[in-house]
Amino acid sequence: MIKETLVEEIKNCEKLLIGIGEEWKSQEAVDIQVLYDKLGELIQDKDYFIVTTVTDGEIRKSSLDQRRIVAPCGNVSWRQCSKSCTKDIWEQGEIPDDICPHCGQPLTGNTIQAEDYIEEGYLPQWNAYTYWLSATLNKRVLILELGVGFQTPTVIRWPFEKTASINNKAHLYRIHGSFSQLSETVKGKADSISENSLEFLRNL
Ligand SMILES: [Zn+2]
Repeated sequence: MIKETLVEEIKNCEKLLIGIGEEWKSQEAVDIQVLYDKLGELIQDKDYFIVTTVTDGEIRKSSLDQRRIVAPCGNVSWRQCSKSCTKDIWEQGEIPDDICPHCGQPLTGNTIQAEDYIEEGYLPQWNAYTYWLSATLNKRVLILELGVGFQTPTVIRWPFEKTASINNKAHLYRIHGSFSQLSETVKGKADSISENSLEFLRNL
């Protein structure tokens, strides 16, 4: 029943904010591209923005609109100098030997796991996101949190609760296999669905 309601709410919302978290790491789902594509079909006509903390870069291979995605924790398919001697960031394969052309040290994934994460990789999309978010006030905003736990709650979980609480027309769905609990600030404006978000989408 809640699945039908959710699909109906997607149809009726003006803005759709989606957070993708830990449950979407690709090793936990062999059919991750199928699920990204399914999500893409579900939201294709909507004014959406996706924030993901997953760094495996799989979402970049999906059919989702890349201009509507920000990955603040980075992604491994972008390369940076492991010693951060430069703020340059390269596409995978762009530097054939994966060695920094400036200092000769190995390149590494442009993610928060890097010793010195170069945040310039995601900042242009972050600016696009904050601009998009500023236009959601007083709109019917549907917020979908898919598998976001507590690894980096400052990126999605807590800001999404804030967005839900300050917007009168916002509604949040928090879908997670074990961490779907809601804070007091969003009581009455949010639904908690205690189901693995991949399973939830697969069965939608
Ligand atoms: Zn270097």
